[in-house]
Amino acid sequence: MPSSALSARPATAINNLRLLIAGDWLEGRGSRLSVVSPSTGEVVAEGASAAPDQVGDAVEAAQKAFRPYADVPLWERAGLCHAVAAALLRRRDEVARDLAVEQGKPFAEAVVEVTVAAEMFQAAGEDVKRITGEVLPSSDPTRQIFVVREPIGVVGVITPWNFPTTIPAEYLSACLAAGNTVVWKPASYTPVSALHLAECFAEAGVPAGVLNVVLGPGVTVGEILATHPSVVALGVTGSSPTGEAIARMAGAKRLLLELGGNGPAIVAEDADLTRAIPRLALGCFANAGQICDSTERILVHERLHDAVVDGLVEAARQVRLDASLAEGATMGPLNNEDTAAKVDRHLADARANGARVLVGGGRATDRPTPLYYQPTVVDGVRAEMLLNREETFGPVAPVMTFKTDEEAVALANDTELGLVAGVFTKDIARANFYARSLRAGIVNVNETPTYWQPHTPFGGYAGTRSGLGRLGGKYTIMELTQTKTVVVDVAP
Ligand code: NAD
Repeated sequence: MPSSALSARPATAINNLRLLIAGDWLEGRGSRLSVVSPSTGEVVAEGASAAPDQVGDAVEAAQKAFRPYADVPLWERAGLCHAVAAALLRRRDEVARDLAVEQGKPFAEAVVEVTVAAEMFQAAGEDVKRITGEVLPSSDPTRQIFVVREPIGVVGVITPWNFPTTIPAEYLSACLAAGNTVVWKPASYTPVSALHLAECFAEAGVPAGVLNVVLGPGVTVGEILATHPSVVALGVTGSSPTGEAIARMAGAKRLLLELGGNGPAIVAEDADLTRAIPRLALGCFANAGQICDSTERILVHERLHDAVVDGLVEAARQVRLDASLAEGATMGPLNNEDTAAKVDRHLADARANGARVLVGGGRATDRPTPLYYQPTVVDGVRAEMLLNREETFGPVAPVMTFKTDEEAVALANDTELGLVAGVFTKDIARANFYARSLRAGIVNVNETPTYWQPHTPFGGYAGTRSGLGRLGGKYTIMELTQTKTVVVDVAP
C-alpha cells in the first residue's frame, strides 16, 4: 500500500473550511463561503471555495493516486472501508451535532444518518469481496475467455445537502472498496459534514489523493469536475435539472445520476389504516420532507378519505417543530430559502386553485429564522396542481382521492418523475397490479415510498427525470467498476 497517508487535521478547526487536495488541507482561493445554521441564523463556518486551478490540482492528485490505489490488494481496501466506518462511529456524536447544526434536522435524526453512513462503509468492505467475474464458454477450445471486473479511475462525486453524510457515503464507500479515486464536491450548505467525513479517511490511513474534497458552487467547481477530461465517471445526487445539465456537459463519461422524486403513496380501498396513517405521516414529515423518496403525494380511495385526513391532521399536530439541537424536536427548519420559497409557491398554487389547507400552511413566524415550516396537510389536491406534478421537498401531505385502482395508477404516473412509490392494500392481486403498473424504481407494498434499506437498488425509472443507474450496496460497486474481457490462447 502507498505509505503517504494524508495528514489528520485537528477537529477544532472544522469551522474553518478547507479543501483536501493530495493529502493536504488547503485554503480555497475562490469565492467566500459562509455556512449559516438554518435553526439560528448564525454563521457556523467560513472559508473559501476552490479556485479553478485548485479543482484541476485535485483531479491531478486523484489521477496520480489511481494506479497505485487500484493495485492495493482488495482485502486491504476492504480493511480501509472498515477503518473509515470505525472512525465515523468513534466521532459519531460530534459529526451528528455539526450535521444537525448546518443542515437543520434534529440531532437524533443526524445520529441515525451518521450511523447508516458508517454501515455503508462496512457493507462496501464486505460486498466488494463477493463481486465475481466469469469464465465464458468458448467456441474455440484453444481460447479461454475470462470476464474480470476492474476499477474505472477518477470519479467526480457531486452531492446535495439533504443527507450530507449518507449520500456521499454511498459513492465514497463504493469507490474506496473498488479501487477508484475521488474528487468530491459537497453541497455548499453542508461542507462541515463533508470535512468530518474526509477527516475519517485521514484517521483510517487512506492514502493521500484517494479522496480529494473541493468546496464551491455547482456552476463553477461542479462544472469543472463534470467536464474535466481526466474524470472518467460522475456520481451525482441532486435535482433533475442539475443532473440533466451535468449529463449534457459530461458527454460520454460514465454517469450515475440520482435525481428528484415525487413519490405517490396510494391508500387502496382495503388498506389497513392503523398501519398506513403513521407511516404516511413519517414519510411526509421526516427530514421536514426534504428527501428524494419523501411521500410527496397521498392518493386515497374516496371511501377512506375522511379517516385518512383526520389521521394526518392529528399526526401533523404531534410534530414538534424546533431547532435541530432542541430537546425533543421531531422536525427542524428547512435547510435554505430556495427550498422554503418552493413550498410557498406550491401551497399558493394549491390555494388559488381551490385546495384546502387543513393544518399548517406556511412558515412559523415566531422563530429565529424564516425557515421553520409548519407541518401541513392539504385536502382537495387535483392532478393539475404543482403539489401533484412537481417535487415539493417540504413538510406537506397533499391528499387526492380516487375511485378505481386504474384511476390511482394514472394519477400516480402523471408526473415526469419516477423514483419511488408506495401502496397500502391487503389484497395480493391488487398489490401485484400496482407493483407492475407504477412507473418507479421502487414500489413498496404496505409501506410508504420513503421506506428504504441502504443495500437495495435505488434509482429512477427509465424514461423519467429521476436519474440513471442504481445506487445501493453491490449495485453501486457494479456501476463504478467495469468489465474487462481477457482472452487467452491456451493451445499447446
Ligand atoms: P441541486 O441540484 O441544487 O444540487 C446538488 C449538487 O449539484 C450540489 O452540490 C450543487 O452544488 C451541484 N450543482 C448544481 N448545479 C451544478 C452544475 N451546473 N454543475 C455541477 N454541479 C452542480 O440539489 P439540492 O438542492 O442540493 O438537493 C435536492 C435535490 O436532490 C432534490 O431534487 C432531491 O430529490 C434530489 N435528491 C435525490 C436523491 C436520489 O437518490 N435520487 C437523493 C437526495 C436528493
